[in-house]
Amino acid sequence: MTINTDKLDKIVADAHRNKAERDKSYREQALKLFPWVCGRCSREFDLRNLRELTHHKDHDHFNNPSDGSNWELLCVYCHDHEHQIHADAIAAAEAGHLLEEKKHREATHNPFAGLKDLLEKKGN
Ligand SMILES: [Zn+2]
Ligand SMILES: [Zn+2]
Repeated sequence: MTINTDKLDKIVADAHRNKAERDKSYREQALKLFPWVCGRCSREFDLRNLRELTHHKDHDHFNNPSDGSNWELLCVYCHDHEHQIHADAIAAAEAGHLLEEKKHREATHNPFAGLKDLLEKKGN
């Protein structure tokens, strides 16, 4: 059996187009709903620099409620900053979680835990 790369290419191309269309439509809606001002630094925008003036509050680009409640207009700089904070928060949360888990394992990992109880119970 041969892999039909044409078909694969089409699927990939479709996926890209769908994403582009989805992003475009949510952006258009967001730009109708909100003033063209960055939500962080209040920089004003016009048609020349309107690129990348949207952001998903929960970082889920599939979550596009029509009331715009998941959207926020951010300029490129604040947007990058916001995503950096988000990435850092995830990394920190993961690091913290792993650390907690490690502590937990060290505190509870005792191969003879329970054995003492078992013996004591038997002794009664
Ligand atoms: Zn900004
Ligand atoms: Zn974003």
